[in-house]
Amino acid sequence: MGAAATREQTEHVVARLQEAGVHARVARGREATVIGAIGERELLATLPLEGYPGVDQVLPILKPYKLVARELVPDPTVIEVNGRRIGDADFGLIAGPCSVEYREQTLETARVVAAAGATMLRGGAFKPRTSPYTFQGLGLEALEILREAGDETGLPVVTELMDPRHVEEVVGATDVIQIGARNSQNFLLLSEVGRADKPVLLKRGPSTSVEELLMAAEYVAKEGNERIILCERGIRTFETATRYTLDLGAVAALKKETHLPVIVDPSHAAGRRDLVLPLARAAAAVGADGIIVETHPQPEEALSDGPQQIPTSEFAEFADQVKAIVEVMGKRFG
Ligand code: PEP
Ligand code: MN
Repeated sequence: MGAAATREQTEHVVARLQEAGVHARVARGREATVIGAIGERELLATLPLEGYPGVDQVLPILKPYKLVARELVPDPTVIEVNGRRIGDADFGLIAGPCSVEYREQTLETARVVAAAGATMLRGGAFKPRTSPYTFQGLGLEALEILREAGDETGLPVVTELMDPRHVEEVVGATDVIQIGARNSQNFLLLSEVGRADKPVLLKRGPSTSVEELLMAAEYVAKEGNERIILCERGIRTFETATRYTLDLGAVAALKKETHLPVIVDPSHAAGRRDLVLPLARAAAAVGADGIIVETHPQPEEALSDGPQQIPTSEFAEFADQVKAIVEVMGKRFG
């Protein structure tokens, strides 16, 4: 719509699109209002869109993803969860243990990260483990512990949903639904969380491309849930010095392609705690909207991912070091 278009003119166009059976999504930006029309190309071609009052230009979205594309929503999306924000000037510091192991471990960790300025609490209840013989997570019991830790500290809780059979329990207990790297292209699960009324933290699979990640996000958005946080967590390469190769180039590329917030997981990418801080600082510097980090009171005794978890005793110092770069970028912990 042109800069001088009125609200009525925008609504008129939306009504005409809907009458024609086309999905219309309005994005009111700082500079222009964009109406995204998603439907059959032939149907759209029959509408005299250019002729409607207030319409400035009619352009095809050439990218295969639409709802998550910056072309459709020019301003950055900010996702707010219980008063905490991720996106634009707000940097999310999501921290907590890899797995919820027992009540005290999670409560203690939650208190430490909250005091250090974390903006959300992470913790795995259902764990996607490479080996079926290792700890698989406490499951439903962990959801209760996480809820208690979230309520006590006031931090929104992030936990992974692995199985469509647990949608009700996980969506009910958590504030943000995590879709893990291994389920990045589990399209049925993506559609399922697209119908939930909680934000989704969608991780990039170790071998999915930037475009594939955006298409996965499109599956969620298509069902109506556009509160999506994308997460780069390292991809599979020939390199063995780190557990995965953190693809910061993808973060920069994603920031160009999408209006959604993009965060980084330096813990799973590094696989070793001595590299978590430098990768976290690099993530902030490349323009990520946040990080998700693992920390544990006694990493040497952790039931999963011990080598990469930062001891909680070092977490406040870690958060301060990251904050310095966040501030250089003109942002603050949301
Ligand atoms: C996690 O965050 O707990 C996790 C298992 O990460 P990923 O899905 O990126 O491996
Ligand atoms: Mn982990």
